[in-house]
Amino acid sequence: MAAPEFDIVVIGGGSGGLVVAAGGSTLGAKVALVEKHKLGGDCLWYGCVPSKTLIKSARIAYAMRHAAHWALTPAEPRPDLARVMERVRSVIAGIEPFDSPERFRGLGVDVIFGEGRFVAPDAFEVNGRRLTAKTFVLATGSRPAVPPIAGLQDVPYLTNETVFDLREQVPSLLVVGSGPIGCELAQAFARLGSEVTVIDMAARILPREDADLADVVYRQHLREGIRFHFDASITKAAGTRGAIELTVKGKDGREQIVGGTHLLLAAGRRTNVEGLDLERAGVRVDQGRIVVDDKLRTTNGAIYAIGDVAGGLQFTHVAEHHAGIVLRHAIFRLKWTRPSTVIPWATYTDPELARVGLSEAEAREKNLPHRVYRFPFDEIDRARAEGETEGFAKIVTDPKGKLLGAAIVGAHAGELIAEYALALTHGMKAKAISATIHTYPTLASISRRVADQRMKEGLTPSAKTWIKRIFGLQGT
Ligand SMILES: Cc1cc2nc3c(=O)[nH]c(=O)nc-3n(C[C@H](O)[C@H](O)[C@H](O)COP(=O)(O)OP(=O)(O)OC[C@H]3O[C@@H](n4cnc5c(N)ncnc54)[C@H](O)[C@@H]3O)c2cc1C
Repeated sequence: MAAPEFDIVVIGGGSGGLVVAAGGSTLGAKVALVEKHKLGGDCLWYGCVPSKTLIKSARIAYAMRHAAHWALTPAEPRPDLARVMERVRSVIAGIEPFDSPERFRGLGVDVIFGEGRFVAPDAFEVNGRRLTAKTFVLATGSRPAVPPIAGLQDVPYLTNETVFDLREQVPSLLVVGSGPIGCELAQAFARLGSEVTVIDMAARILPREDADLADVVYRQHLREGIRFHFDASITKAAGTRGAIELTVKGKDGREQIVGGTHLLLAAGRRTNVEGLDLERAGVRVDQGRIVVDDKLRTTNGAIYAIGDVAGGLQFTHVAEHHAGIVLRHAIFRLKWTRPSTVIPWATYTDPELARVGLSEAEAREKNLPHRVYRFPFDEIDRARAEGETEGFAKIVTDPKGKLLGAAIVGAHAGELIAEYALALTHGMKAKAISATIHTYPTLASISRRVADQRMKEGLTPSAKTWIKRIFGLQGT
């Protein structure tokens, strides 16, 4: 039998696939990368990069309007969505060269544009070309789910794939879904001048997060005038661009019409598994998800699935981490290496909400013996100086103080969580953070202050009595 043409064939050139292709090629592997659209994936074109760029302009608009909070004269920014979206385009354009076909071809990767399919367990065909490889990597990502709502197919709706193409003002926006994408975009559009209504079948926003943390974000959304319909099902959609109506049925069974000029769907994701003839390769798909083992191998041991399409947590840093695991397996034959279970993430609302490890609710559901400690931002000097005192940090430990999880809701939480990601990755106890000197005055000192709560708890009245006796102290 002829030897495979490639060491690695990657299908999908987004966050995960690009890292496998660049890393594999740099390490000396012969790599082909098949992409059906353009390199960069969701994160660059329709996800992280445009959303965070939009959020920045929205934050400035909010700060201008509320400048009195910082003892300055407020100003109405009169947002021009066309200009804001041009900035989004230019930020994408600045990053794009790092993901360009020229760069990857320069690294020695055979970049092939086209939509292919498996024709055998060890062969993928694209543009009439049969690619064989020792290792295949499926990195085809996900796309927005379109909920089954009567009439929706006749209504002009936006998703994350089209919302950043908007150039006209959005007087009123209906957002279906109050997960991270729905909340981030709802707040950004509200700050850029839209009246925003969010509809969700869940009972509250960000249901994956502890309720006390999500509530801080929710209250800020309410203060900014965003309206919510929870426990709501949408029974009908009707209208045209500029006049869209959703029939929303509440928990009590009563229906009401909710209107807006634009409609944005942010109601979950579907994995991109169609059209690849996965069954011909022996790759099993269960309920739209590729079945993978704890090492990211599909039911065909030579084919891996990484990133969104692997069906776990859908984040860019997860896709990139998966890529590193596959490279270790495919090139260095370190087949025992598994993905880390310590995965931080953040929702980039204002305030931000970030988490790593177990939540308080999960610790309770799993019946794990645990302790919970909190510390508020309004006791952090830097937060007061910044005028950003909303929120708190929370850690969950085992009874001996070993960290099980951490969450922060507040300014820059997405940055601050990194310290706890490090601590959890290395199995540290709260006392390790408590013993670490943090720069003053920083928001990061909240990480130490919340860990200190664990140390203070050890100081019971009887412990204090003993200390006084042993060291001859005279205080009360
Ligand atoms: C609005 C929004 C905001 C987000 N914000 C964040 C954030 O702040 N932080 C974060 O970590 N994550 C964020 N994400 C998630 C992040 O974008 C994804 O988790 C990440 O892009 C997944 O990487 P991937 O490699 O699995 O897929 P992608 O990066 O999406 O790449 C998949 C690639 O495969 C291609 N493809 C699909 N089907 C085929 C096929 N049949 N043949 C060939 N090619 C194919 C696609 O065209 C695409 O280029 C956000 C997502 C959205 C939608």
